[in-house]
Amino acid sequence: MKMPTTWEGWASRVSLYVREGKKLLGEPRFPIRISEIAQDYSRNVFPGDPIVHVEGKNFAGKFEGALVPNDDKEWAIFYDTGHTSKGRINFTMAHELGHYLAHRHLSGEPFYCSRRDMWSWNSEYGRIEAEANSFAAFVLMPPDDFREQTRDFIKPTLAQFETLRDRYEVSLTAVVLNWLKATKRRAMLVVSKDGFVDWSRGSDALFRSGVFFKAKQCNLSAPSTRDV
Ligand SMILES: [Zn+2]
Repeated sequence: MKMPTTWEGWASRVSLYVREGKKLLGEPRFPIRISEIAQDYSRNVFPGDPIVHVEGKNFAGKFEGALVPNDDKEWAIFYDTGHTSKGRINFTMAHELGHYLAHRHLSGEPFYCSRRDMWSWNSEYGRIEAEANSFAAFVLMPPDDFREQTRDFIKPTLAQFETLRDRYEVSLTAVVLNWLKATKRRAMLVVSKDGFVDWSRGSDALFRSGVFFKAKQCNLSAPSTRDV
């Protein structure tokens, strides 16, 4: 079978594998847990250099996750045990699986992914990070189901996003960003830290309307330090 060469190709392939596999097993389609599929899937597709290990590791807040090879060309996915959110960990693992499928041939070097790297989409390295994020979003929140679930999101509330976060077992940030990507509405996610804007992301419709918001220059009157 011909192998995909892009993250989109891999995301569709993995998504189909999970959907059909769960149907055969008579299990609900969601949530999709990467820890349950990464090793079997990689062994099936790449028996010569599979993922053989998935483990939590104390990165002391420096990294969200990592994809690391050993001397036998086998790979391991690590995630930061400093986080308690299982959704955030699941998304990170999907991000690393995306690197494994779409990027590991690029250098053969380990990938260490920090939160800032994962969400900064401007540099060349950022492009690869963005692809891994897009892969993770597609696999965990497949477009067909996501469209259906957000059909009535006119002015979505936090509670509506939290319901989706639980459905897909991802982080709240991942759900909101996925919605911003697709919505025709003018909307923006602003994440603050210590009262200042840490980073923000707007929908395409917002930018088309000419609104621009520079991070780190706005002191928020109602700072939020929630872990999203
Ligand atoms: Zn990464």
